[in-house]
Amino acid sequence: MDVCTLRKNDVARGFFNGIIDKDLVSWASMIEAYAQVNLPLEALELFKSMMVQRIRPDLVALLSVIRTCSNLASYKKARWIHGVVIRSFFGHHVTLETSLVDLYVKCGSLNAGKARCWCLGALLGACRIHSNIELAKTAAKNLFELDAENPGRYVLMSNIYASSGKQKDADKIRDLMKQRGVRKVAGHTSIEIRNKVYTFVAGDKSHAQSDLIYSELEKVINRIRQEGYKPDLNFVLHDVEEEMKETMLYVHSEKLAIVFGLLNSGPGSVIRINKNLRVCGDCHTASKFISKVMGREIVMRDAHRFHHFNNGACSCGIIGDIVIEGQYLVHKLS
Ligand code: ZN
Ligand code: ZN
Repeated sequence: MDVCTLRKNDVARGFFNGIIDKDLVSWASMIEAYAQVNLPLEALELFKSMMVQRIRPDLVALLSVIRTCSNLASYKKARWIHGVVIRSFFGHHVTLETSLVDLYVKCGSLNAGKARCWCLGALLGACRIHSNIELAKTAAKNLFELDAENPGRYVLMSNIYASSGKQKDADKIRDLMKQRGVRKVAGHTSIEIRNKVYTFVAGDKSHAQSDLIYSELEKVINRIRQEGYKPDLNFVLHDVEEEMKETMLYVHSEKLAIVFGLLNSGPGSVIRINKNLRVCGDCHTASKFISKVMGREIVMRDAHRFHHFNNGACSCGIIGDIVIEGQYLVHKLS
């Protein structure tokens, strides 16, 4: 960390110390400041001090401290934070659960027993990030028993197999999904421009501006690639050619809606879109790059939360990007 960043943090801590009646926002902001500059011990100590003051942490403070502590890879600290989460009574919260799973994985201490304690799905998503197929199989078995009607479980498990080169196993999961009559909701993204709502599905060419949208999309993809964006091919079907995989990613509904927004809204205005499912990991990454390269804030509401993309970053602070629905897989199934 550079000296300038350290000084800024010292100044922030000075202000923080000077606040007489510190409320939750003051504590959470300072904890997040430490988390952002990767000072996990400082963040954790401050978090403990907040608890001593009997201030109940909110989601922001919990996510900050979990995120930063994952860098410590300390099982003991992970257990302690897990206890705080349970006592904080947030109930079922997918982002929190995913962050906890990630924390445990980084401590090297995730076992199948925990699959029964947590939900996205969260465990399967983490397995995908960490390419842990054995754990994914155990988790999927439990999840299929507990939640056999949830299509996201099947899609994600199939994608985990496919990304590990086990296409036959991936096909078996898809067959199982068909046999059980589980059908997937198709993903779509909508955007409101001048009081009219426009909706896009993946590969959509039904819009009057389609030619313009696709030519602009190509330009945008080229620009973000120059900036460092690399398409994450894990988010498409795996039984297609590499070149085709990239094309499939580029025409996801999120990207089409964003480009439509770029074309049809005033320079510098905020682009607001809604995704009916959870945002795909690749589109999440691409949105960060687009916000920076095009100088536009993008506010995306997906099935789980708001994402505020600005200058190359997203407000969600999710560790890694997790997807539960593969749109093309869905398309093939239906
Ligand atoms: Zn996508
Ligand atoms: Zn986000």
